[in-house]
Amino acid sequence: MDPTHFPRLCDEVVQEWRDWSAQLSISTPRQESFSLLERRQPAPAEPAGAEEELPPLHILVVEDEASQRMMLQRLLQILGHQVDVAANGQEAFELVQKQPPQLVITDLAMPEMDGMELIRRLRALPDGRQLYIIVLTILDDEDNLAAVFSSGADDFISKPIPPRILQARLKAGQRIILEQQNLRQEQARLRRHLEELSIDNRLAQEAAQTDGLTGLYNRHYAMRYLPQIWEEARLAQQPLSALMLDIDHFKVVNDEHGHDVGDNILQQFAGILRLFCRRTDIICRFGGEEFLIILPDTRLPTAIQVAERIRATLASRNLVTAGLSLSLTVSIGVAENEAQHKSVEALIKSADQALYRAKRTGRNRVEAAP
Ligand code: GH3
Ligand code: MG
Ligand code: MG
Ligand code: MG
Repeated sequence: MDPTHFPRLCDEVVQEWRDWSAQLSISTPRQESFSLLERRQPAPAEPAGAEEELPPLHILVVEDEASQRMMLQRLLQILGHQVDVAANGQEAFELVQKQPPQLVITDLAMPEMDGMELIRRLRALPDGRQLYIIVLTILDDEDNLAAVFSSGADDFISKPIPPRILQARLKAGQRIILEQQNLRQEQARLRRHLEELSIDNRLAQEAAQTDGLTGLYNRHYAMRYLPQIWEEARLAQQPLSALMLDIDHFKVVNDEHGHDVGDNILQQFAGILRLFCRRTDIICRFGGEEFLIILPDTRLPTAIQVAERIRATLASRNLVTAGLSLSLTVSIGVAENEAQHKSVEALIKSADQALYRAKRTGRNRVEAAP
């Protein structure tokens, strides 16, 4: 019925009631005209200023009685919400999966699937716990109510539904839905922040253990980490070798071509070192143009071979940078871990002494510790 016709219908009924009462000599209380009453109806009472603007909701109404269903749908639409309807639990369950609403208002007694079963199934869905569910019950349904809440409902409204109660209960639901939305956004923001932090952390860790120019391990990291490798080799009774490398006459490169060219040469040299090392080897920039390589599970002859390949490669290849083609050489000292080495520092010292001999005996050489 068109809402504008309703007061007129009421007035007609009242008028007929008066006429009949008069004919039957029954006194009737005065009854104002419905049309007048309606016109005088104050705008919906809102506590001054306290009412916050809440965004409209997407609501699903589940009710098997068509008149109730339509009444609710109209009411909710008038309140500005987007409303879907279903005539029983089964229909509702299918609809929720296709177009998940934010709030469900469901009757209890319905054919096919009743309200309680619907709630249980909704709560079992992946996003089902986020749904706000209001149950419609008959006034004296208290026993039922306890079961309804334990099945997962958030709130209830007694039938017949007083519109103002419906509106108030919806407001409560809206506030909670909004709060949950904000919480989820906040959680997502935190998660992103944590991810960024862990990336920062990893970068900081890498920066602390690598050399900025060459990307190789730095001396600080090597000296902290190598004792562990040395100890592991000792316990496993595995060999361990060390290479100490120093580029020959490197000062000349800087003096003649500048520091930037020197830097680039150091980077290219690091690339050559990577070429000849295994993943398990530890390559470290030990000082300016000095490098240390630790070769786990490697005996002296193999270590000498690796050193020789590095030396020969650098000697046979010109390094090109900034339009220059430079020929460089490297001296290398090699040592294998022996009983007389009491620590990794002692092993490194042996390699360093061998390197010193290589420098003294002409450079561009590989010398092994005796
Ligand atoms: P030797 O054959 O005896 O090793 O001679 P050398 O010139 O290589 O040795 P020396 O120790 O006299 O000089 C090393 C030079 O390495 C000095 C310095 O200018 C240069 N150097 C050290 N660190 C860096 C760096 O990070 N970048 C550049 N471009 N040069 C560096
Ligand atoms: Mg019903
Ligand atoms: Mg040096
Ligand atoms: Mg040098």
